[in-house]
Amino acid sequence: MKLFLRTAMSALMAAVLLCCGCADTGAGMARQPEGGPGAEDGDGARKTNAGQGAGGPWQYADTAMGTVVQQTIYAADQETARDFSAQAMELLWGLEREKISWRLETSEVYQANASAGSEEGFLLSADLSALLESCTLLWERSEGAFDVTLGAVTRLWDIDKWAAESSQEGFEPPGEELLNQALDTCGSQKLRLVEEGSADVRSAESSASRESRLRLFMPEGMRLDLGAVGKGLAMERISALLAERPDVDGAVISLGGSILTYGGKPDGTPWRVGIVNPFDTAESIGILTLEGSWCVSTSGDYERYVEVDGVRYHHILDPKTGAPAVSDVRGVTILMKDGLLGDGLSTACFILGPEKGMALAARYGAEALFVMADGRIEMSDGMKDVFRK
Ligand code: ADP
Ligand code: MG
Repeated sequence: MKLFLRTAMSALMAAVLLCCGCADTGAGMARQPEGGPGAEDGDGARKTNAGQGAGGPWQYADTAMGTVVQQTIYAADQETARDFSAQAMELLWGLEREKISWRLETSEVYQANASAGSEEGFLLSADLSALLESCTLLWERSEGAFDVTLGAVTRLWDIDKWAAESSQEGFEPPGEELLNQALDTCGSQKLRLVEEGSADVRSAESSASRESRLRLFMPEGMRLDLGAVGKGLAMERISALLAERPDVDGAVISLGGSILTYGGKPDGTPWRVGIVNPFDTAESIGILTLEGSWCVSTSGDYERYVEVDGVRYHHILDPKTGAPAVSDVRGVTILMKDGLLGDGLSTACFILGPEKGMALAARYGAEALFVMADGRIEMSDGMKDVFRK
């Protein structure tokens, strides 16, 4: 059996071959920060400082949520940039530990999952209440293509393990019976979100946080997996953090397939965000030129996958079958202000394909770009305005 595994690290390093329009970006692609994400400095954080004099940019790299985090920060001085970047990393680690990890007992998702089948359900925090509302609306609008209740199935496929070098050997696709048993526990139509003291709730337009809390009821065996929106949630949190930091003038934060641009550069030039070429992840297929604050989210079958005997098993699953989505799409990029919805939409659009995916993105006011298996690129009109090959 020939098995080939892409590590999250290498794929994502390719994904962040992107962005930010530093002075030395050559053919429109930013170089990696000097030394790459493994570079250590005195205080142990993995980071690099490529300060260009007053104003920055300063660049930092580290890992969180199983992926590489790259930060390019523009601020009056390096101390401010370093302080912000450390705060951002704490935020990401905290988010994983306290909110979205399904492995760590300390996280809310873990505890919510443990409540499945119970009569009393689980009282969600206000922010996870808002998140699950947004996710159930996206489930509805995507005709079930996007579904955060796939946890039992994603675990069977052992997706997270694909990122680990040690798991290269022995991958076997799950058998049909196991898959069907796991699929039986899935489906957002089976979960209930109840406002404390009122009727069932179905959904808000935006992922902005809400005041009130919802109680979540899940049937026995159901498991949440927020993998498709975790990075988007992180982008939203980092945006909020940046809003509290007027001393940071501009930033590009890249977290795997999600990239946040914020503010501006001292010289007033726009951000330039590269879109990875699914056929050669060390290359880009083009550049988005963006002013101000945006989230760019990409999902593709090249991000995490294993190949066994010539068959590629990737990490975006079709809820109808529980298997990797069969699609003539190789990658989808969504551009919008809301990072969480952008992340969810990129996953949903991969499964839906360009026709339905474009319509779904438009419903959210998002721009979309599809790279098709035959190399064609399909774009919404707003995307055409900012994309150049
Ligand atoms: P990444 O997290 O690598 O950027 P995505 O945002 O596309 O990629 O999310 C893929 C992850 O979402 C999978 O690893 C899995 O945890 C989860 N997932 C897979 N299929 C679906 C789906 N149809 N709906 C919602 N979540 C999914
Ligand atoms: Mg996603």
